[in-house]
Amino acid sequence: MTRKYLMAGNWKMHKTVKEAQAYVETFLPLVKEETEREIMLAPSFTALYALADLLKDTNVVLGAQNCHWEDEGAFTGEVSPKMLAELGVTYVIIGHSERRHIFGETDEVIRGKIEAALRHGLRPIMCVGETLDERVAGDTMVVLERQLREGLKGFSAADLKNLVLAYEPVWAIGTGKTATPEIAQEAHAFCRKILSDMFGDDFAQSIRILYGGSVKPENVVGLMAQTDIDGALVGGASLSPESFSRIVCFGRET
Ligand code: PEP
Repeated sequence: MTRKYLMAGNWKMHKTVKEAQAYVETFLPLVKEETEREIMLAPSFTALYALADLLKDTNVVLGAQNCHWEDEGAFTGEVSPKMLAELGVTYVIIGHSERRHIFGETDEVIRGKIEAALRHGLRPIMCVGETLDERVAGDTMVVLERQLREGLKGFSAADLKNLVLAYEPVWAIGTGKTATPEIAQEAHAFCRKILSDMFGDDFAQSIRILYGGSVKPENVVGLMAQTDIDGALVGGASLSPESFSRIVCFGRET
């Protein structure tokens, strides 16, 4: 089964609307020939509306970095998937390790957000990954299995056909320490095995699993060559249009 690479940029809490617009104007010409891979940019909520306009009819789709599990209500400071869908957002990152570890999101909260995103036709990018302590303790696979089984409990394969998974070892995020291609492949293959056990092999083979954690132009080729790695979720290196375009177009540079 061929899975189309998804190269996704997560800007986190960076870039004003003006900075986001200037980025896109530089970035689009750099990636315009890249039609075989999907490209996503996830700016802050404040820049989504402006970028939705600039990305219309281009080969780059819009992502959001988070959403709430309800459509509306008394949830000061939150943004609902219904609001994101109206803007033309395609993907929404759910359960990023910064949401889990800084904002205390649990597997149950993440499950609710995935359900809400799907209800509004958004494609969830569900993040899983172990901390350094968990890896050192030999618990990596236990953590990944728990996050997958709890976060995806109660769904059917049909419900989750638009799911994307991202394996992001917490010790590699924003630290400059990348998992070796072999370590990443081992975790990706394990996640796919759990998905197969939960939803069947056809489903597991169809789902894209992105790698995230200090991906850069210098290390992307080795990571993307792995059988079970189907793209990248990129933080720091997506903040520059030049470096992110080199990641998106990996292996094509002359
Ligand atoms: C991320 O934010 O998902 C991420 C992987 O960040 P970085 O590329 O900076 O490690």
